[in-house]
Amino acid sequence: MNFKTPLELRSFRDRKIYIKRDDLISEDFSGNKARKFEYFLNNDFPNVKRVVSYGSNQSNAMYSLSVLAKIKGWEFLYFCDHISSFLLNSPTGNYKYALQNGMKIFISTDREKEANSLIDSETIVVQEGGRQKQSEYGLKRLADELKYDISTCGIENPYIFLPSGTGVTALYLQKYLEWTVYTCATVGNSQYLIKQWNMVEEKLKIYPKILESKKRYHYGKLYLEAYAIYSELKEDMGVEFDLLYDPIGWIKFLENIENLDGTPIYLHQGGLKGNESMKARYERKYGKI
Ligand SMILES: *Cc1c(COP(=O)(O)O)cnc(C)c1O
Repeated sequence: MNFKTPLELRSFRDRKIYIKRDDLISEDFSGNKARKFEYFLNNDFPNVKRVVSYGSNQSNAMYSLSVLAKIKGWEFLYFCDHISSFLLNSPTGNYKYALQNGMKIFISTDREKEANSLIDSETIVVQEGGRQKQSEYGLKRLADELKYDISTCGIENPYIFLPSGTGVTALYLQKYLEWTVYTCATVGNSQYLIKQWNMVEEKLKIYPKILESKKRYHYGKLYLEAYAIYSELKEDMGVEFDLLYDPIGWIKFLENIENLDGTPIYLHQGGLKGNESMKARYERKYGKI
């Protein structure tokens, strides 16, 4: 698998923006989840027979772990708190494709505890969304790649922007890059994001800078303006972004861009497999755009 991805100069609403195309790593193993799980892909674990994780039933991490498990010949067990009868009867998106890769899914009232209770010499447990130290390995390599790209393209005074969930991607990029990494919260608020960073890297001196927006957005909720910017990006830039994190990211980024000094680099973090179910939700609510 080729982890080296292009850095492309694009324009959007008359602004030049570089896009780091981590959506192009591979169709199946893409974006920041591929970077986070690269450690498991590149190292040998002779005793390991299974990987266990937990989180939402449409998570991008869940799908990527199902791909990893398939490549490694591991069993994949996944705990979530519910599966609607709608999804059970007509599987779509990440859920459908993870099942096709052999995922065994379980309902649990305490999914985190249940997953972590299975750790042993044959079992790797991956925390929700890859919020753990092992993610540093692949994200440091991404930071090195960005340094190389920036110097080869001769970009002056660059800064990076990416929307956060757990914030792990932004955190490790900031740890290894001398330029400012801007991010925004999509899960919870900024305090939540800082708490997540404290849990992973308590002693880090510089955290990414968090951008705010006037409006509050709730994780996983549908917004007409989010759907609209997704379509505009796809049409104007010719790049499809994910529908869960990126529209909120772009909205907050563009709201603040006048005040950011330097040349912007937007990190595309993949997640396009998950668009199947998000698109269906949006179309049920707003029709096709
Ligand atoms: C998981 C994911 C994120 C959030 O990444 P964190 O490292 O948890 O902040 C953002 N965008 C996409 C497309 C993702 O799949």
